[in-house]
Amino acid sequence: MEQFNEIAGAFLCPGNYLGDEPYGSGHINDTFKAYYDVDGREVHYIHQRVNHKIFKDVPALMENIGNVVRHQRKKFEEAGANDLDRRVLTLIPTVDGKDYYVDSEGCFWRTYVFIEDAVGIDVVETTGQAFEAAKAFGEFQSQLANLPVRLHDTIPNFHHTRSRYDTLMQAIEEDTHGRACNVQAEIAFVKEREELVDLVIDLLASGELPERVTHNDTKLNNVLIDSATGKGKCVIDLDTVMPGSVLYDFGDMVRTTTNQAVEDEPDASKIWMDIDYFEALVSGYLETASGFLTPKEKELLPMSGRLITFEIGLRFLTDYLQGDSYFKTHREGQNMDRCRKQFAMVKSMEEQAEAMQAIVSR
Ligand code: ATP
Ligand code: MG
Ligand code: MG
Repeated sequence: MEQFNEIAGAFLCPGNYLGDEPYGSGHINDTFKAYYDVDGREVHYIHQRVNHKIFKDVPALMENIGNVVRHQRKKFEEAGANDLDRRVLTLIPTVDGKDYYVDSEGCFWRTYVFIEDAVGIDVVETTGQAFEAAKAFGEFQSQLANLPVRLHDTIPNFHHTRSRYDTLMQAIEEDTHGRACNVQAEIAFVKEREELVDLVIDLLASGELPERVTHNDTKLNNVLIDSATGKGKCVIDLDTVMPGSVLYDFGDMVRTTTNQAVEDEPDASKIWMDIDYFEALVSGYLETASGFLTPKEKELLPMSGRLITFEIGLRFLTDYLQGDSYFKTHREGQNMDRCRKQFAMVKSMEEQAEAMQAIVSR
C-alpha cells in the first residue's frame, strides 16, 4: 500500500488516490488498475511496473512509446476522431514532467489513462475478432508510416532469423543436455528450410522492403475491443515498438490467431492454419494498410506467417536443447511440444500457400 502511495504521488493524476488492484492477464509487466476520486466521481488509471529484467533499457523504451503515442494522437486529431482518450494510449506525466518514474527500489513505473468499456480477448473465438485486430494494427502502422524520428532498437536483432538459426545450429552441436537425439525430425525440418531465414533480412538490407515502425507483439489481446460494438478501439502494449518490417507484425498475427490449440498441444491432429481466419486477417489488415503497403510487402504477406512461425519454432527448439533456460516450462519436453506446434503450423501454411496467395491477390 505504501508502495502505491509513492507511485500515486509521483504522477499527475487529477483527483484523490483511492487504491490499486492487479489487472488484466499480461505476462510481462505488473499491471494495476488505479482508482481515484475526482469531485465525487470515480476515475481510473493504469499503473504499470515495467519488467526491467526483460527490457534492458527502459528509458529508451519509454522514449519510443512517447514518440509513438504522441504521433498517433496527432493523426487521430487530424482525422477528427472524437473519442481520443479511447483510441490511443495516453501517458500521464510525473510531477517533474517525465513519462516514467523510478521508485525507491529502482523499478520503473508508467501511468496511462484507463480505457473504459473495452477488453483484450485472450483466445480468439470469431473471425470478426481477427478482422478487427488486424484492422487496428494496420491503422497503427499506417499512422506511424511517416513518424519523423527513427525509434531505438530496444531489442537488437529481435527478428534476425539468421542469428536465431545460427544459435540453434550451435546448440545442436554442443547438445549440452543430451536432448538432440529426441528432436532429429525437427532439426531436419529446420535445415530443409534454411533459405527462409535470410529472405526478409536481405530484402530490408537491399531496400526492396522498407523499414517501418512495427509493434512486434501483435496478438489479439493487445488490441482493446469495444465491449458495446465489438470494434477494435485501441492498440496497447507498446514495449516492443521498433524499426522493422510490417511483415513481422502481420506474420505474428497469422501465427497467433489462425489456430486455437494451446501453445504446447501435443496432438498434431489439432494443429492447422485455419484459412477462414487468415482471410479475415487479410481483409481487416488491407482495409487500413493497403494505402501505404508496397506491392512487395503485399505479395509477401502469406510468407510472413510462415517465417514468423518458423522463427518462434526455432527459438523453442533452441531453448529445449539448451535446457529450458529462456522460456518458462512446467514440465519436461514442453518446449519441444511448443516447437512441434509451430512447425506443424508452418507445414499447414506451406500446404495452403496457393490458397493464401489467392486471398491476398483478390
Ligand atoms: P503481454 O503479456 O501481452 O506482453 P503486458 O504484461 O506487457 O502483456 P499489457 O498488455 O500492457 O501488459 O497490459 C496488460 C493488460 O492490462 C492488457 O491486456 C489490458 O487488458 C490491460 N490494459 C493495459 N493498458 C490498459 C489501458 N490503458 N486501459 C485499459 N486496460 C489496459
Ligand atoms: Mg499485452
Ligand atoms: Mg507486453
